[in-house]
Amino acid sequence: MRIPKFPKVNLGFFPTPLTELKRLSAYLGGPRIFIKRDDQTGLATGGNKTRKLEYLIGEAISLDCDSVVTGGAPQSNHCRQTVAAANVYGLNCCLQLGGHYTETLEGNVLLDNLLGACIHWDPQHRRAEGLQTIANNLAKRGSKPYVIPYGGSNAVGALGYVSAVGEIQKQLKSLGQNISHIIFASSSGGTQAGLTIGKIVYGLDAEIVGIEIDKSSPGEKPLREKILTCANDLARKLKLKRGIEMSNLSFENGYLGGGYGVVGDLESSAIRLLAEKEGILLDPVYTGRAFGAMLDLIKRGRFTKNDTLLFIHTGGTPALFPYSKDLLK
Ligand SMILES: *Cc1c(COP(=O)(O)O)cnc(C)c1O
Repeated sequence: MRIPKFPKVNLGFFPTPLTELKRLSAYLGGPRIFIKRDDQTGLATGGNKTRKLEYLIGEAISLDCDSVVTGGAPQSNHCRQTVAAANVYGLNCCLQLGGHYTETLEGNVLLDNLLGACIHWDPQHRRAEGLQTIANNLAKRGSKPYVIPYGGSNAVGALGYVSAVGEIQKQLKSLGQNISHIIFASSSGGTQAGLTIGKIVYGLDAEIVGIEIDKSSPGEKPLREKILTCANDLARKLKLKRGIEMSNLSFENGYLGGGYGVVGDLESSAIRLLAEKEGILLDPVYTGRAFGAMLDLIKRGRFTKNDTLLFIHTGGTPALFPYSKDLLK
């Protein structure tokens, strides 16, 4: 299928590696597990937002914007990659971070500072709810800001994970390998929307399984609805004949643990296991939880020994440092 062209810039080193976790699989007694290293995109310590930002920054530049505005939690990997991406193309970057200045100068917030972001601290807004106000203020001062939503999750950003499916398919082909499931941490939904539409575009025969890592707040749309909306916006953008339905989305939502960013046994033992068996570092908020969920789902038989799994490592390792106390408990 021909994909229409959209404005895009280069921000990462692609393709990211795709390797097999042989020692881990042997330890578990199966199934075979592969890992896609999107933690290695290279943009100021990397992560899944790099793929989205290639299209988002591309659009910002095509609209002649001179600054970008986005937001998230203080340890947002999305915010850190956005500042770096803005710097690569000479744009200013304002972040709204949902916390206090005194909270932490470690991990991603440290990197945001080093990268020179202008930071608006706002403890009331962890999910980038006040971005338009910041953008309006910038516009009043003669700037032309481009607003990037929470997690970079709209149809433009999700294009990055449509092309990721093409990249994965090529790598699997050269390995002569099929997979049955793609598993990853799902939070603002753009990654899952992109992968789900990418599966259709590239005819990939694998189930796309998002592990929900963050509960929606009261009154907010549930994640599955956000993903459905984003995926169907994306389908229209790509001029696909049909969109998708809720029944086309797969989720696991039994792994919310103690809430967003709370590290429990599931997360810390998954982080230690992968580190000890394969020398690969997961993160405490997203991939530690998703990987722990995958291991539990193997135990419960949701994934069987005959399946072949692909886990997408979506990044987040800078957050290991501010969570050291929880991880060493
Ligand atoms: C943002 C993020 C995710 C979730 O991706 P979404 O597209 O927001 O669902 C997963 N892992 C890490 C490390 C992230 O930073």
